[in-house]
Amino acid sequence: MANREIPYKIYLEENELPRQWYNVRADMKNKPAPLLNPATHQPCTLEELSHVFCTELAKQELDDTTPYIDIPQEIIDFYKMYRPAPLVRAYCLEKALGTPAKIYYKFEGNNTSGSHKLNSAIAQAYYAKKQGLKGVTTETGAGQWGTALSMACAYLGLDCKVFMVKCSYEQKPFRREVMRTYGANVTPSPSMETEVGKKINAEFPGTTGSLGCAISEAVECATTHEGYRYVLGSVLSQVLLHQTIIGLETKTACEKYGIKPDMIIGCAGGGSNLGGLISPFMGEKLRGEADYEFIAVEPASCPSLTRGVYAYDFCDTGAVCPLAKMYTLGSTFIPSANHAGGLRYHGMSSVLSQLYHDGYITARSVEQTSVFAAAEQFARTEGILPAPESSHAIRVAIDEAMKCKETGEEKTILFGLTGTGYFDMVAYQKFNDHEMSDYIPTDEELKVSMDRMPKVD
Ligand SMILES: *Cc1c(COP(=O)(O)O)cnc(C)c1O
Repeated sequence: MANREIPYKIYLEENELPRQWYNVRADMKNKPAPLLNPATHQPCTLEELSHVFCTELAKQELDDTTPYIDIPQEIIDFYKMYRPAPLVRAYCLEKALGTPAKIYYKFEGNNTSGSHKLNSAIAQAYYAKKQGLKGVTTETGAGQWGTALSMACAYLGLDCKVFMVKCSYEQKPFRREVMRTYGANVTPSPSMETEVGKKINAEFPGTTGSLGCAISEAVECATTHEGYRYVLGSVLSQVLLHQTIIGLETKTACEKYGIKPDMIIGCAGGGSNLGGLISPFMGEKLRGEADYEFIAVEPASCPSLTRGVYAYDFCDTGAVCPLAKMYTLGSTFIPSANHAGGLRYHGMSSVLSQLYHDGYITARSVEQTSVFAAAEQFARTEGILPAPESSHAIRVAIDEAMKCKETGEEKTILFGLTGTGYFDMVAYQKFNDHEMSDYIPTDEELKVSMDRMPKVD
């Protein structure tokens, strides 16, 4: 159906919701490297992973070969509360920029948690419930993942225990209260409730915590409590799989209107939204059916793809999780204060890392003042107040559209708008008051954390 007039928003019907997730690993010639047991450095077995994760999720984690995995009906029913998500043609932004480029964004912020994370939260909570567990534990940094998980757990009647990085717990009380409203138990991390928390508190008195430390606490809490498992909001291949709902819907919408993106852009923290958005398109590229340019955008203050190394590393500070081969800055790397909490992780999804390593994806890093300038421009033209994380993708989409203005090319640019920024008003305040700064780590600083990575051969 080419050349149909393109509406501002393309909404699919509920019965057009994808019934299966797409596992891009099945089409990768070079599979992502396996997770390793941190003690033996041997690939993790299903049995080992099942101590930490629900069995069905551990199976998904290890599955490199099944291209399509059925979405259980109960998850589809939950998805219907806030999906299909619209694919928006950014007519107003195009006009403001005066660009011949056609700009589209897939908007994932239309739910109370305000981000795409709910897509995987409901899947992980569902499999935990189905396994007969009492509850799940997790970490949250800025709070988006904890919020999404508490919504999913409330819906299914599961207990939800969230370790929230202490500085966010104190600085983002509203996120914390949203989680508690949905029934979650929220603990500032490092806490005195776990051995690893006590150890970190003793070693670094007064520390305000980090994501890696909160992960260690959540994993310990799950493995020492009967009937609990740990769940994670990004990085893992299972999370990327669940997030392919974003890309599958996008692809259906594009096909309905004869839209063929030239480039697909997404912000990359642990890689789940970007991986989810691009997977079905990447599948076509891997199978030689179509070509697209894929761009991962990361903060200059936490540049795992653009300045990291591709190696096995710890996923958490306490080194209790499996080792993953990924582009990483080293698990002890602590990014400088930047306001995109969801992009502060030291590593990157092993699937995206392998695709990047093989040249299928390019990456760019951007500085936060330029990111907020793009966010402001977007808010003023398209109306939506974007999350700081999402605004990284907006920055590069605008840059690319401005290049088209110079060259006269009518490229079709698609990006992922992962969420809204209502809980990020302190960051917006800093930007509005011109008090925001850009910090880019030096090579020497990066070397310190990279030198402390595990030696695996
Ligand atoms: C968590 C988050 C991200 C980054 O996570 P990925 O796993 O890289 O997708 C991006 N945007 C928003 C709004 C988030 O909450």
